[in-house]
Amino acid sequence: MGWDEVAAGVFQRRYNPLDVSVCVIRGSDGLAVVDTRSSPRQADEIRTDLRELGSAPVRWVINTHAHFDHCFGNQRFGPGSDLNVPIYGHVLAPAFLDRFERPGLAECIANGEEPVEEWREVVITPPTELVGDRHTLDLGDRAVDMFYLGRGHTDNDLLLRIPDAAAWLVGDVIEESGPPCYGAGSFPLDWPQTVARLLALVTDGDVLVPGHGAPVGAAFARAQQQQLATVAGLIRELHGDGVPAGKAAEAGGDRWPLPVAGLAPAIGTGYAQLSPG
Ligand SMILES: [Zn+2]
Repeated sequence: MGWDEVAAGVFQRRYNPLDVSVCVIRGSDGLAVVDTRSSPRQADEIRTDLRELGSAPVRWVINTHAHFDHCFGNQRFGPGSDLNVPIYGHVLAPAFLDRFERPGLAECIANGEEPVEEWREVVITPPTELVGDRHTLDLGDRAVDMFYLGRGHTDNDLLLRIPDAAAWLVGDVIEESGPPCYGAGSFPLDWPQTVARLLALVTDGDVLVPGHGAPVGAAFARAQQQQLATVAGLIRELHGDGVPAGKAAEAGGDRWPLPVAGLAPAIGTGYAQLSPG
């Protein structure tokens, strides 16, 4: 699959493994690349593919969040690379990398997980420009608004709006090709409110590009918000009823709106949040 112009001057390319989205926003001063995949080799593939978009230089990188599949290619764009462009990310991204992704990478290498040669080449490269609640990046003739709307898929999800294209790049806060992923460092109880805050800013007709999958509209995001809210509500209810965490998946039965196989981490972290210590 090649670059798909999902909105005016906004391109998405879906890469395997993991069907991860890399997006490009074209401005008069250059290209902003959103997310860098899982390794320097994969990032080099992006750099090669960028030639299909013309000769404009990459001037900025933005990480939607600090999961490995979105930022382990940073080293081929940021400090230490020939491009040496600024990398934008949320202020909590560096700590997230240290807490989850650095140990995860070490474990992959120790276990010889494939592609182990590629894992060995990764130099974890945190964002160089840290964004708090809000930042606007000027691409010359257009702007990219970055919003932090609260915890959800992680504690460092940036939501990007390209106002003149009526487009949003939402990282893994919304997923299309699979159910929302409650992985390392997710906040299942907070996630629905974060999406509700996003929906308050989204207009019908806006296109939302997920970190995994095809672009969606506001209606899809609203439906996914409902699923996230149902999961959070059910975790609270089962916890309140004294159902042990290990029995919650079964006790929820067919009331879970998402495949139960992926919900164990949500139940675990939800319960931990409800009974700290
Ligand atoms: Zn993710």
